[in-house]
This record gives sequence, structure tokens and C-alpha cells, in this order.
Amino acid sequence: MHAIRIHRPGDPSALIYEEVANPEPGPGEVRVRLRAAGVNHRDIWVRQGVFGDFPDPLIPGSDGAGEIDALGPGARDYAVGQKIVINPGLSCGRCVFCLSGQQNSCAYYHIVDGTYAEQIVLPVQNVVPMPSGLTFIEAASIGIPFVTAEDFLARAQAVTGQTIVVWGANGGLGLATIQLARIRGMRIFAVVRSNSYVDRLKQIGASDVIVWDGKTSLSSNIMNMTASKGADIVVDSLGEKSFMQSLEMVRHGGTIITVGATTGGKIQMELGPFFRRRLTMLGAYMGSSAILPRILPLFSRGTLLPVIDKTFSLSDAQAAHSHMESRGLFGKIILDI
Ligand SMILES: [Zn+2]
Repeated sequence: MHAIRIHRPGDPSALIYEEVANPEPGPGEVRVRLRAAGVNHRDIWVRQGVFGDFPDPLIPGSDGAGEIDALGPGARDYAVGQKIVINPGLSCGRCVFCLSGQQNSCAYYHIVDGTYAEQIVLPVQNVVPMPSGLTFIEAASIGIPFVTAEDFLARAQAVTGQTIVVWGANGGLGLATIQLARIRGMRIFAVVRSNSYVDRLKQIGASDVIVWDGKTSLSSNIMNMTASKGADIVVDSLGEKSFMQSLEMVRHGGTIITVGATTGGKIQMELGPFFRRRLTMLGAYMGSSAILPRILPLFSRGTLLPVIDKTFSLSDAQAAHSHMESRGLFGKIILDI
């Protein structure tokens, strides 16, 4: 098969298109003929070596959709040819967190790598039947962003009538957050860097779109729009560039969700106002394995929409990463395999 492999961390040129041996499924595993892979910001961090050492070679990519093409011994419930979506969390399956459906709190939790390839082998519990009405490209766009957003909204106890600020609203995670907040009946302030996104964000469900120049503070805008209360929840995926503003714009007793830190992760803050204002800071990283099978039917019914910015062929993964790092996107980048 063909795959994208990384031998050494680096810039997009570290993604090498190569011919590699077909993987064989072991007991309880299935082999998937991938048809599409979703590109996530996590893949850039993997490529850059941010998570530390990795095996050489490593096939990146966590989200994907395709067809079962071989079953290992004891892999039941699926047949060759069945269309599936990858559920990208791996965990021990035995600890109290796994047994209570909080797999992403398991000490052994990690996210699948290996979808930038024509084939991948996975435990049978990591595939979910693909719902009707979706293309492979659409199905590959859902996993990490929607699972992550659904998990943190549930943990933040987001409810009807609350206000939520979404930084980086034009990215895959931002658009997933907006849609899941919309079906909860929240008032959504979407923050972006360009006017060109405003109409599309309103169609997706943003109540108000704020175009930020990257320099000025947005907290006064949010205070004006919330009758000086501040927002109930702020979803901050930027980190260094936005976090101090997130602290200013969240209401007393409100919640800041930190997820991603794409502009850097170092901040310095005073704890006094933080505890006196009874704030909650919630770190978000993926979610329960139950979320993906539960939300996929909402895409068949049109309640949730996959938003695709651009597709690239597998051999063009370098261009796909360069496009993602240019930050001028709206929705997901997908590799068409
Ligand atoms: Zn576990």
C-alpha cells in the first residue's frame, strides 16, 4: 500500500509518500481500506515532534473513513465491504474510567495514528458503521473535532440560553463547537480574523460574529453584548494570544475551556481574581468513545453538517499541511485516498 510516513520531525517536507507493506489484522482487529483521512491540528504537532519521541517511521493521521477489507480472528459484527468511520481513541478498556465511559481519562489513553495511508489495522471497537447520506470525505471530517467539542460542552454543563465565545471559529473545532452549541440553544459569539467568514458562520449557527484584528482586546465587545455580565463559557483554542482576554470576558462563576493552544501555551496570570471570581478552567482533550456513534446519525438527518474547506490527494499531504498552517481556511482539510 501507499502511506505518508515521517522519519524525522520537521516542516511539511517531513511527510514522505512511500510504498509500504500491507498491515495484517491480528486477533480482534480489522483492516480498513481508507478512502479519506481528516487532517487535524494534532497531526501538525505530531509532525513537529511536539509530543516527544515517536517511532521511525510513523504514519500520522487520526480521523478517517473507509471500508473493512479484512477481519482478524474473532473480529465479529463487521463484514468485508462494510463502510465505517474511525473512532480514534485507544484505551485499556479495564480501568474505572474506561468502565464508566470516560476513556479519555484512562492512564493509557492515546489517539490513533496511521490514517494517512491506504490501509490501517485497528481493534474492532475503534470502528463505527458509517451512516447513510455521507460521503467518505464528509465522514472523515467528523471524529476529533466533534467528539472533543461534545465532550467539553457536556463537562461545562452548557445549557439553553447560555452565552458562549468561540475563538478560531472558522477551524474544524470551532465549527463543530458552534453547531453543537446551536443545538443546545446557546447564544454563540464566533471570533474570526476575516470578514469573509461572517455569512457562512451565521448560516452554521453563530448568533454574532466578531472580526478580530489580532491586536485589540475583545472583552469590551463581549461585555457590551452580554449586558456587562460576560460570557458563561469561553472556548479558547489559541492559548497565548487569547487567554488573558478570555479571562476578562468570562462571567463570574463562568468556565474557560482550554483546548489546543495553537498560538503557544505559556501564560502568566494572577490567581487572586481567578478564585475570587469563582472561575473554572477546563482542559479538554478528546472524549468518551460513546460520543461518535451517538452523534453520527445527526449528520444523516442534517442536524449537523460536515464543513469541508479543501481536499488533497494522499500524495499531496505536504500541501495539505502547508494549507492548514496558512490558517486561511473554513472547515476541514481532507486527504482523498
Ligand atoms: Zn482505561
